[in-house]
Amino acid sequence: MAKKKLPKYPLVWQKDDFFIKIFCSIPNIATGILLTTDKSIFVIDPGDGILRDLNKELDKEKILSISDIFISHGHHDHVGGVWSLLTYMSVMSRTKPLNIYFPKGSLEIPSIYKAFLSVYKKEVNFEIALIEIEENHKSFRKKNVTIKPFKVVHKEPSHDSLPPAEVPSLGFKFTYDKKSICYGGDTAYCENLVNNVKGSDLAIIEAGAEDESESDLHLTIEQAEEIGSSAKEYFLVHVPE
Ligand SMILES: [Zn+2]
Repeated sequence: MAKKKLPKYPLVWQKDDFFIKIFCSIPNIATGILLTTDKSIFVIDPGDGILRDLNKELDKEKILSISDIFISHGHHDHVGGVWSLLTYMSVMSRTKPLNIYFPKGSLEIPSIYKAFLSVYKKEVNFEIALIEIEENHKSFRKKNVTIKPFKVVHKEPSHDSLPPAEVPSLGFKFTYDKKSICYGGDTAYCENLVNNVKGSDLAIIEAGAEDESESDLHLTIEQAEEIGSSAKEYFLVHVPE
């Protein structure tokens, strides 16, 4: 097995005004990613700590201008910061609508949203659109970015000696100004990931398997490097610490 090299966060990539910053991506702890272009500010997988990290990076007006949040799947290390982000936006009197995209069948986002509204309904002055993404969802455009969601294969261990159960999970490919960034979310080896990474300007690939025995849950470092090397550049993330 290849020697484990831990990513040094934050990881940053920029081509002109296409910018991505991975604040962190640590399995079972937190993920947090900011993606910007000249006209758009997106957040991907806002795990715990996202508000603290965004606050270091952006001023208040910019945080309130985040238009779209993309969720790869509902595990806590990918959605743990949603509550604080929504609350901050409400307390700071946001008025612009906000879109949250998440895989169809994922329970976490609708549950957080429902709980959030049950507490803050009277104070919230902005619209929140929850957008379920189906497995074969078409590409769509937001601001000046094309987003292509694609299904990946991510499972969670079962606690009752049943086989691991599949979790609704997506990767996203973002294309702007003829450059593309492919984020695979959490996934085991799958053709969809391989095909979408190929030729991307940047691939962000999880390498979350502790060892070969977890390769139906996550990618091993070898698999992640092999897939990543078909992109022009790649980052390995979600490496167990
Ligand atoms: Zn996960």
